[in-house]
Amino acid sequence: MATFRFMALEKTLQREPVIVKREQNLTSDFYGIQVFDRPKMKKYLSKEAYKAVCDAVDESTPIDRKMADQIAQGMKSWAIENGATHYTHWFHPLTDGTAEKHDAFITPAETGGVVESFSGSLLAQQEPDASSFPSGGIRQTFEARGYTAWDASSPAFIVENTLCIPTVFISYTGEALDYKTPLLRALSAVDKAATTVCQYFDKNVTKVTANLGWEQEYFLIDEALYHARPDLMLTGRTLMGHSSAKDQQLDDHYFSSIPTRVFRFMEDLENEAYKLGIPIKTRHNEVAPNQFEVAPIYEEANLANDHNQLIMDLMKKIARRHNFQVLFHEKPFAGINGSGKHNNWSLTTDTGVNLYSPGKNPKSNLQFLTFVINTIKAVYDNQDLLRASILNAPNQHRLGANEAPPAIMSVFLGTEVSNMLDHMEETVVERKMTPDEKTALKLNIGRIPEILLDNTDRNRTSPFAFTGNRFEFRAVGSSANCASAMIALNSAVAAQLNRFSKEVDSLIEKGIKKDEAIFQVLKKLIIESKPIRFDGNGYSDEWVVEAEKRGLTNIRSVPKALEAYLHPRVKKMFADLGVLTESEIEGRVEVEYEKFTKKIQIEARVLGDLAINHIVPTAVQYQTMLLENVKNMKTVFSEDEFKQLASGRMELIKEVGGHVSAVKAKVKEMIEARKVANIIEDGKEKAFAYENTVKPYLDDIRYHIDKLELIVDNELWPLPKYRELLFVR
Ligand code: ADP
Ligand code: MG
Repeated sequence: MATFRFMALEKTLQREPVIVKREQNLTSDFYGIQVFDRPKMKKYLSKEAYKAVCDAVDESTPIDRKMADQIAQGMKSWAIENGATHYTHWFHPLTDGTAEKHDAFITPAETGGVVESFSGSLLAQQEPDASSFPSGGIRQTFEARGYTAWDASSPAFIVENTLCIPTVFISYTGEALDYKTPLLRALSAVDKAATTVCQYFDKNVTKVTANLGWEQEYFLIDEALYHARPDLMLTGRTLMGHSSAKDQQLDDHYFSSIPTRVFRFMEDLENEAYKLGIPIKTRHNEVAPNQFEVAPIYEEANLANDHNQLIMDLMKKIARRHNFQVLFHEKPFAGINGSGKHNNWSLTTDTGVNLYSPGKNPKSNLQFLTFVINTIKAVYDNQDLLRASILNAPNQHRLGANEAPPAIMSVFLGTEVSNMLDHMEETVVERKMTPDEKTALKLNIGRIPEILLDNTDRNRTSPFAFTGNRFEFRAVGSSANCASAMIALNSAVAAQLNRFSKEVDSLIEKGIKKDEAIFQVLKKLIIESKPIRFDGNGYSDEWVVEAEKRGLTNIRSVPKALEAYLHPRVKKMFADLGVLTESEIEGRVEVEYEKFTKKIQIEARVLGDLAINHIVPTAVQYQTMLLENVKNMKTVFSEDEFKQLASGRMELIKEVGGHVSAVKAKVKEMIEARKVANIIEDGKEKAFAYENTVKPYLDDIRYHIDKLELIVDNELWPLPKYRELLFVR
């Protein structure tokens, strides 16, 4: 009888391709048709209602109830005309992914039957039962009074037959239970702080917007093979599997031609994304086999993050249409590249200036350097916080492994900017500069070219790289909600910019001229933050040693890394900026500890089950075959011949037996370790127990299973192997 594995393979190889029909010829003809964007608002809303929404988005002015009612009517008309029958508040709880609860647009009519209705209060606010979402004890389960409130800055959209209204999710007492609330607060904090600093250079700046351009990496696996791997299905990664004889050694996947079935998936995805107004720009193969990337044109950070969450949902749905499963896990396969989600980040002013692009003259270049230097300092001071914002159970496997930045934070600048900072460090003096010194410095600053060619061939080994007109935070994991990293980064930069303007102002008060005050503070920041600057190979062992010498932290343990959130300095920073209160931070960290524990717990259970139900019986069956074979040999051959011929077989029987015994013993020990960890009440302590006493078994057990995979008869092996998962498509 064929194994499940072979049945899955057969199914995969017999697939008929799914042909996708493009709706229209030109993307611009159908771009955003499912979004209630400004042109549609203009059409469906009264003049004053339209203005109310625009003001809410541009100036953060609140929308009153009467206006909300008007907006709701317009939104409903548009949605119903476009086939929507239901609506939902769409939000980002602290779990992975997004949440929605659909309600039909109907209310009973006085004359019987129903009418389609939707009011301002339903648009603005809803009360989903909050008790089933993690909040880390902020909201006691008995007062399940969380509510969602409309985020007018992200437009409503239609998915299938449902109008989705982006919302924040907060407790009855106003505490954030989601990612969006603190993200919006952090974006507002960085806006204020950066606008103040911009005032030194240009009085016309009144608003600064943070931008995010994410690059989403993922794997595609045939559905039948995926379903034959319970570990992939339940944990998102393979808990066992010997490496394939060929995987990515030849570097023959990156940027090579896209396989036809994958190409059809991508086309279909882009089509659907465009309808939702997600500006997908790039698609390509990634380094590992069956690994790919999709990236849009960058957008305002909150909208970009909504779009990232939305596209992850979309990818899962569309992959299934093409008989694929999409894997967002950071390390679905051991030994080859994992997936990240690079966060390209920049700040732009309402005067149209990218603060991370060198300008045309010394003044705009000094503004550019001011923002670059403050960002470096922010990363230096907050290296532990930034790490905590991106490190979790799945990303732990990726950092420091094949082709991923280590758990050490560093900033890559490239030679041009580095040289400029060195130059500033050397020339600026604490005393008053002579006019000649000043002119020389300004001339030099003016020499930064507008386009930093140096950075086009940039360092891909840095977790935080300057890439010519933006910083790229590359340590973010592929399954993450970008908000976590964006909250930390924007807050850190906001806090640093606030400190900067305070210091500059105090020097100005002492009678030092503005330019000179700026130079002096920048010089100080350059010196203080020097240890975080590193342009070398971040993947090398030498860097680990060097970083330690520099006093940089290198923390790979998730529970340990999470402690950064609880540092008094970090708590104060978040509180001062109005991004997160102390109890909100504590709640969040508790949720993170719980998520970590649960993920390891699930992996341990799945591995234990598979080891005992799939692997041990298969290995024993093979061992029995070998034993039969030896017995038969004995009847056929002479004593001497038998001794010679059977010795290899006997060795193999012992080898299989050894691994089987080890697997069984270790699974038993792992279960015991879990029992001990499970009775720990404190969330943080429990996470540490899982990290230190349960998690090591995952690798131990895997080692023996992978050895068995190499020796057991291929016909018997029950699970699709790496070479099949990664190359069949
Ligand atoms: P690469 O793979 O070379 O890093 P990609 O083209 O795949 O580059 O992705 C780069 C991402 O950075 C895109 O989302 C792009 O829109 C975004 N990006 C470009 N300029 C900026 C900027 N100034 N601010 C933020 N994101 C940016
Ligand atoms: Mg990139």
